[in-house]
Amino acid sequence: MGSAIIFVDEIDSIGRKRGAGLGGGHDEREQTLNQMLAEMDGFEPSVGIVVMAATNRPDVLDPALLRPGRFDRQIVVPLPESGERKAILEVHSRDKRMGPDVDMETMAQATPGMSGADLANLVNEAALMAVRRGSKEIGRIDFENARDRVVLGATRESMILSVEEKRATAYHEGGHALLATVLPHGDPLHKVTILPRGMALGVTWSLPQDRHTYSKEYFDDTICKAMGGRVAEMIVFGHLNSGAANDLEQATGIARRMVREWGMSERVGPMAWSSQQAVFLGEDLMSSQREYSDDTAKLLDEEIARILTEQESRASDILTKHRRGLQLIAEALLEDETITGPEVAKLIQQGMTESGQPSEDIIAR
Ligand code: ZN
Repeated sequence: MGSAIIFVDEIDSIGRKRGAGLGGGHDEREQTLNQMLAEMDGFEPSVGIVVMAATNRPDVLDPALLRPGRFDRQIVVPLPESGERKAILEVHSRDKRMGPDVDMETMAQATPGMSGADLANLVNEAALMAVRRGSKEIGRIDFENARDRVVLGATRESMILSVEEKRATAYHEGGHALLATVLPHGDPLHKVTILPRGMALGVTWSLPQDRHTYSKEYFDDTICKAMGGRVAEMIVFGHLNSGAANDLEQATGIARRMVREWGMSERVGPMAWSSQQAVFLGEDLMSSQREYSDDTAKLLDEEIARILTEQESRASDILTKHRRGLQLIAEALLEDETITGPEVAKLIQQGMTESGQPSEDIIAR
């Protein structure tokens, strides 16, 4: 008798909880699942058949699938970390011609959050970029461009911004970039651009480090940074644009989780309420009902609002203090469209010197 390993990819497409969820019953799918459950009951332990399956959504699987004798062991495969990303990049570039300036170590550091498939795609994108450039080998520039394309979306050369829009975008992104540089606990600034990409008019791009836990200070700084765009526009032009909607959504999302899930509000204290994410992942709607009183709901709302307002005025204080640096960054963006993190730091220094402030004070604590 031979042995076999059977691998089922995307098991959630047939193994979803029966009779639950929002989509209603799905006869064909349920029959497949029933058949599979019946077959898996039939294997004898001695037959030497290992059945494996993969999914990104273990939470929606039918409990019967996870009983002993079926898929009774779970192995969590997290996203690769820097060293692992380097190894994955090397596997995918093995049969491609690489230029001498390509450094996989740096590329691995610059691609946090990417999965194996993302990295494979990145190498292919870089190869296409090299071909388009008429080069016989993949250079560092191709990897940089490919990463920008994968992470930020294609540049939209057809999109013409008016002069005012461009100026507003330069100050908006300048505000993000300045805060990303001077705030002590955030991710370091990689670069900032006002080239329209994908859905965005401009992008300020930090390099997230590999981290497993995040401090309250990190979240405070991240919210402050997100506020930087609209605050800069407010300081310089005295009015707001709709462009900051994403920033507010991001900031509010973090503040909400700080208060509701991570116990980072002193007034609320060490209590956690399940996130609304559960519904999003396909859990039963019934199980995520509100578990707290109206008073608590009011307290949560107040605390979320307090965090957001505090960080907004912190952003405002810092940007006012660095008003000249902000202007220099915006002018550099209007001139060159993209500037790097170190260039931003230099412009902030220059702004401080010009306005007579001690320049070693660049980190605003
Ligand atoms: Zn923004």
